[in-house]
Amino acid sequence: MENKININDLLLEELEEYIEKIGEKKFHAKQIYKWLHKIGVTSFDEMTDISKSLREKLKASAYILNMDIIEAQVSKKDGTMKFLIKLQDNCAIESVFMRYNHGNTICVSTQVGCKMGCKFCASTKEGFERSLTGSEIEGQIQTVQRYTKERISNIVYMGIGEPLDNYDNVIRSIKLINHPMGLNIGARHISLSTCGLVPNIYKLADENIQCTLSISLHATTDEKRKEIMPIANRYSIKEILDACRYYIKVTGRRISFEYALIYGKNDTYEDAMGLVKLLRGMIAHVNLIPVNEIKEKEYKKATEKSIESFMNTLNSCGIVTTVRRELGSDIDAACGQLRKKYIDKNL
Ligand code: SF4
Repeated sequence: MENKININDLLLEELEEYIEKIGEKKFHAKQIYKWLHKIGVTSFDEMTDISKSLREKLKASAYILNMDIIEAQVSKKDGTMKFLIKLQDNCAIESVFMRYNHGNTICVSTQVGCKMGCKFCASTKEGFERSLTGSEIEGQIQTVQRYTKERISNIVYMGIGEPLDNYDNVIRSIKLINHPMGLNIGARHISLSTCGLVPNIYKLADENIQCTLSISLHATTDEKRKEIMPIANRYSIKEILDACRYYIKVTGRRISFEYALIYGKNDTYEDAMGLVKLLRGMIAHVNLIPVNEIKEKEYKKATEKSIESFMNTLNSCGIVTTVRRELGSDIDAACGQLRKKYIDKNL
């Protein structure tokens, strides 16, 4: 693999340049792009409409990204599948496959580990290793489609890692996923979640990609937020909401706010009213998440009753609120849990 290029990481125009550079006609790039991103082949020899000599040339200077599934857990309750996937440098990441009425959805990782340190999250527990390339993000979709033999139509960037901390590769992955000659999944079917890296929210707005932006808010005051999310020491809620207003203005898209309900921490009536005050007048949607309990962490899931009354308070004040369906509750579906187990076992 040394000195060879990862051909899956090239956007179509880059692939065209590369093909010309190796002395071939540009139109082959389109054929190759389709094989890689629409069909999802794992070797050059599967590209049957490409001449043998071109295939040999490709093999000499490029490689196809292959990612292996180390473990697949399937929920007996709802069929949700969680995958532990090995990258070519042996790092492990997670992807979750969920079936919804509106189509199959995958939750992808964007980094190996995470620097953000949110207290309720297992992904941060083993520290940060590296960011994923655009093709490693797209490759999770290819790998899972190959395994399940089912088409994926919605992508959520909500797995391990902070997407906006890996900005350029995340944008590249969206372009790969979006392309009509590839997976052809529209930006409106892509949702990107951030803990609030303010400068990159502005940057994303200016890309005008039209994907849905989700903000992991989880608290209604900066003081409380600082207790559970270290990023709150860098950016205030006000700065995040200003960036969100800009995102809405530029893209016309509604923002989704993620709020993990933690027992006795952020699940009171006062917290709900605090959220109403913050979001009033904004085109927003609140997604309440009953926080998953992680062994090592001190946080407990809010009670059914407090979740319901929190939701009712918001809805009665005109803030559209839903509770995220708990999929895969019998497997290690919470972000980072499966990878953590794997690391513990292999150290
Ligand atoms: S919740 Fe997201 S941003 Fe926070 S530590 Fe976990 S993966 Fe990172």
